[in-house]
Amino acid sequence: MIYLDNHSTTRVDPIVFEAMKPYFLEKYGNASHGVHRFNWEAESAVENARSQLAQLIGAHEKEIVFTSGATESNHFALLGLIPFLQTNQRKKILSTEIEHASLLGALEQMQARGFVVEWIKTHSDGRLDLLDLQSKLNENVALVSIAYANHEIGTIQDIKAISKLTHESGAIFHTDAVQAIGKVKVNVQEDGIDLLTMSAHKIHGPKGIGALYVRRKNPRVELDSLFWGGNQERGMRAGTPNTPAIVGFGKAAELMGKNLEHESSLIAELRDHLWSELSNISGIIRNGSVAHALSNNLNVSIPGVDGAAMFGAFKNIAVSNASACISGVQDYSQVLTILGVESEMARATLRFGLSRFNTREEINSAANEVISVVKLLREMEKLYDHADR
Ligand SMILES: *Cc1c(COP(=O)(O)O)cnc(C)c1O
Repeated sequence: MIYLDNHSTTRVDPIVFEAMKPYFLEKYGNASHGVHRFNWEAESAVENARSQLAQLIGAHEKEIVFTSGATESNHFALLGLIPFLQTNQRKKILSTEIEHASLLGALEQMQARGFVVEWIKTHSDGRLDLLDLQSKLNENVALVSIAYANHEIGTIQDIKAISKLTHESGAIFHTDAVQAIGKVKVNVQEDGIDLLTMSAHKIHGPKGIGALYVRRKNPRVELDSLFWGGNQERGMRAGTPNTPAIVGFGKAAELMGKNLEHESSLIAELRDHLWSELSNISGIIRNGSVAHALSNNLNVSIPGVDGAAMFGAFKNIAVSNASACISGVQDYSQVLTILGVESEMARATLRFGLSRFNTREEINSAANEVISVVKLLREMEKLYDHADR
């Protein structure tokens, strides 16, 4: 099997796994209770990982809070902000309908707590309509939350422009940067980010560990804890820290940062090669922005084939149709629907997510498999058409 679903999750890098191992078997102390050497050892490993993460995004160590993953980070960023937001009269949140399900879920919770969500328009390539943002920003807007890069179509936003407009109107800016960190040069200072969501398992770290960056000054952002009964993470997140996972997250972040530009350009080359092969399929369209795309993303829709039949026919490739199935009935991507792709095309959509572990040979055979499956399905379609007549 050729794994091409790295927007969904990634293989743990063997270097990351090796770094984690001693924290299961030998250094298994409790990082939040420093009364003996086991615990001091664990605590210093957690602090080391915190600085590895801080370094990846240009933050201060004290601005990193570990969570159970990006879903928790998104909820923490929004729900945890409520007491802070109640110090003013602002009741509006601006976001987009192409956000990740975990962010949409947190927004729904904010609505249930009296906040009003307004949706900013996006262009058909997924880039935010800055004029629409500008027209909706006013003294009632408390928070703007826009993903750094989209998890389906890979479109990277103009974060600097978005945060600048947001701050000019006096609102807080949150970004879900799960898909961007380690692939794009993210810098919370230069990008003007107040809250930033991360997850380890999208960057070759383990599952079940994430972090939230919380700005300490200009402005200082105060978050209320979601969990109580312990003073871990400086009182922001009660619970014994998951030391092995945190160590793995730190190592994964270090590896991403160290090789960022080189690795991104290698992966982009593979992606471009994949597209040049697939573009031989007649009528195929590429979704998202080509100029502002994540290095590892390729999202294509193929006319004249049944999406379900296509996925059923794949033998050796693990690729996604990216349908989050939010409504429970829709079996195609909500993101593509909002961007104007009609349902038949959206059903026959392939989201490729490449990684450092893919080779050119894999890309060649993946492209061949897609091309031959599409050819077969289209020929069968023609036979049926004849039989009908
Ligand atoms: C995967 C993903 C999440 C959820 O991350 P978990 O750590 O699995 O909770 C959130 N946002 C984006 C953009 C993602 O791609």
